[in-house]
Amino acid sequence: MSKSIDISDVNIYYGDFLAVEGVNMTIRANAVTAFIGPSGCGKSTFLRSLNRMHEVIPGARVEGKIVVDGQDLYDPNVDPVAVRRQIGMVFQRPNPFPTMSIFDNVIAGLKLNAGKRLSKAEAEETVERSLRGANLWNEVKDRLNKPGMGLSGGQQQRLCIARAIAVQPQVLLMDEPCSALDPISTSAIEDLIHELKHDFTIVIVTHNMQQAARVSDDTGFFNLKATGEPGHLVEFNPTKKMFANPDDPATEAYISGRFG
Ligand code: ADP
Repeated sequence: MSKSIDISDVNIYYGDFLAVEGVNMTIRANAVTAFIGPSGCGKSTFLRSLNRMHEVIPGARVEGKIVVDGQDLYDPNVDPVAVRRQIGMVFQRPNPFPTMSIFDNVIAGLKLNAGKRLSKAEAEETVERSLRGANLWNEVKDRLNKPGMGLSGGQQQRLCIARAIAVQPQVLLMDEPCSALDPISTSAIEDLIHELKHDFTIVIVTHNMQQAARVSDDTGFFNLKATGEPGHLVEFNPTKKMFANPDDPATEAYISGRFG
């Protein structure tokens, strides 16, 4: 079930370095939210804070609240592994497990879920549902036992999306999911993102403003006040408004290509 995310006063550090400062926003359920902004302004760092992936880096920490379904993800009683199960992630480069078949890649996350024994029928049902959900079923249904690495880059990325949705997360985070793909594969992923928002809350970082305009409902523009200063959220608005009539002159300058 898709959920909204309420973010208040979030600061994100790497050791003593404040990378992202003072973020407030509500990410809507069943919508696509895009983060744009120049390199180094903290988009990826902020995205990773949304499922506590950030804290796998030693010394990294988050202040503030990130609330999903009434639960602060950073509450000391919350298990980060459970958070990452609820809030899945797809990375820049497709990363199927190299030794596994297509079938086993899709159910890898489910198998990891503690104590859950997966029947053959349940595994088959999940694999078909997830591959259909990732618009990949028709291309791979006759070779499920072949290695995931044998697929094209775009197919591998859809396989990674199938693996992420197999555990039925509430939110799907995507960190520049098309940056390693050709235009046709990119377009297939963008179509898929449109479909996935019916079932999931989607958050995508993209360096491509046209992509943000094409796929997202809401957009957050991040920027740096100056080199060495923390990144911050300049503007958060419905995508149509942001691209037609932004509130902030810095957003206007960025989307019209004057910097970044
Ligand atoms: P963006 O995604 O907008 O390009 P990042 O989130 O990657 O920005 O980076 C934001 C800031 O945090 C940058 O100053 C970057 O150098 C720093 N940073 C990113 N990852 C790390 C890390 N693992 N350790 C220390 N600093 C980092």
